[in-house]
Amino acid sequence: MRRKRKVKILATLGPASATMEMIEKLFVAGVDVFRINMSHTSHALLKELHGYIRAVEQKVKRPIGILADLQGPKIRIGTFADKEVKLVSGQNFIFDTNPEPGDATRVFLPHPEIFAGAKLGENLLLNDGRLRVQINKVAPERLDTTVIYGGMLSNRKGVNLPDTLLPIPALTEKDRADLEAAAVLGVDWIALSFVQRAEDVAEAQRLVKGRAGVMAKIEKPSALPVLDEILKISDGLMVARGDLGVELPLETVPSKQKHITRAARRYGKPVVVATQMLESMITEPVPTRAEVSDVATAVYEGADAVMLSAESASGAWPEKAVQTMDKIAQSAENDVYYASIVHAQRTDPEHTVADAISAAARTIAETLQVPAIVCYTGGGSTGNRVARERPNMPILALTPIVATARRMTLTWGVHPLVVADAKTLDEMMGQAGELAYSEEFAKPGEKILITAGVPIGSPGTTNMLRVATLGPGGKGV
Ligand code: PGA
Ligand code: MN
Repeated sequence: MRRKRKVKILATLGPASATMEMIEKLFVAGVDVFRINMSHTSHALLKELHGYIRAVEQKVKRPIGILADLQGPKIRIGTFADKEVKLVSGQNFIFDTNPEPGDATRVFLPHPEIFAGAKLGENLLLNDGRLRVQINKVAPERLDTTVIYGGMLSNRKGVNLPDTLLPIPALTEKDRADLEAAAVLGVDWIALSFVQRAEDVAEAQRLVKGRAGVMAKIEKPSALPVLDEILKISDGLMVARGDLGVELPLETVPSKQKHITRAARRYGKPVVVATQMLESMITEPVPTRAEVSDVATAVYEGADAVMLSAESASGAWPEKAVQTMDKIAQSAENDVYYASIVHAQRTDPEHTVADAISAAARTIAETLQVPAIVCYTGGGSTGNRVARERPNMPILALTPIVATARRMTLTWGVHPLVVADAKTLDEMMGQAGELAYSEEFAKPGEKILITAGVPIGSPGTTNMLRVATLGPGGKGV
């Protein structure tokens, strides 16, 4: 089974998709990585979902990525007795410290630091900025507000305070517990919300201890001036446009998206474009033209992955949303302009053996127009460096390490495969050819390009390129 596109699809699991049957359907429809949002997932459910995904992985015989997304210091309201209420512009609405379910007049705000930090006249934005209220009275355990823009407000919706400086650490106690539970289970990626400083990522890396990749979600304005420092110690990035678009003027988000995706590309780290990509498909079977254009824009930018949030977690059309994303991606990538747009963003190789080999691999592969590049990679770094070149053809990343294959499900253009350790160079060439054939990337008589390292079996030694021709049965010689 192979995908017919280079960009990867992430889909968030939730009530609409949290069964083994649905996970398999979504994988077949095109999901490469499943995201589990720890804001809404207990450790018991995390374990259950992880088990379902790994069972599907065994069944479909393809590595599947799992990303556990930590809530971070995200501020959320409590719940309502009737699950949701309607706030009307001009009315008064109270946030307090009473954990009882709320109603149309008040709701629990389980963050004591806000009552200490918030000031008269400051704004609270609710539900991704859809609703706005302004503080008209501050008390130690209560904020009285006037609704500026009303609307429906439901259980545990997010709160942003763009005007308020809150002394909140990047990893809450809950995040630390969630991180450990996810790492022990063996998820492939752990995403860190509301990263503001490189130190936030460093702290997560210390706790993760290499058991998963650490993805920094860029959703705070304060992260942007220090993006390079954050990238240096992150394994990947997410353009978290939901909160980014609340914290920053909306019209600046498209350019930030371009800056963030290009910065990640320079570092050869996977980058995910997220949030509201097919938002209307939460309720409708067809997206808006603007949403289609938004997904295509991320694909043309050469983002590693595009993401579904509520569309797959709680929407009415999870499978259709994935199929739609898959079709948009294929259509953009098959456009004659695609290669030139993606290549215009190419950055020079660094002065390392790995980058010299990767850049040469792309040049040779494109000159010979081979159908695939096959990379032997241990920890995945060779696969990522070749992907950074954004070659015209897919990259088969062969690794004996299952964790590497799973983590690379996020990387642009990479078809990861777990293989038995080859003992000799001949064995490697034979294996690369056979896999390129059996995975439907190349046919007998065609050439493939192989990157590998000699002496065989020593990690970090990618130092050779070889053109192989597929013989009968696909064996490369
Ligand atoms: P969230 O992150 O869905 O966890 O808030 C994504 C975003 O803010 O865009
Ligand atoms: Mn967010």
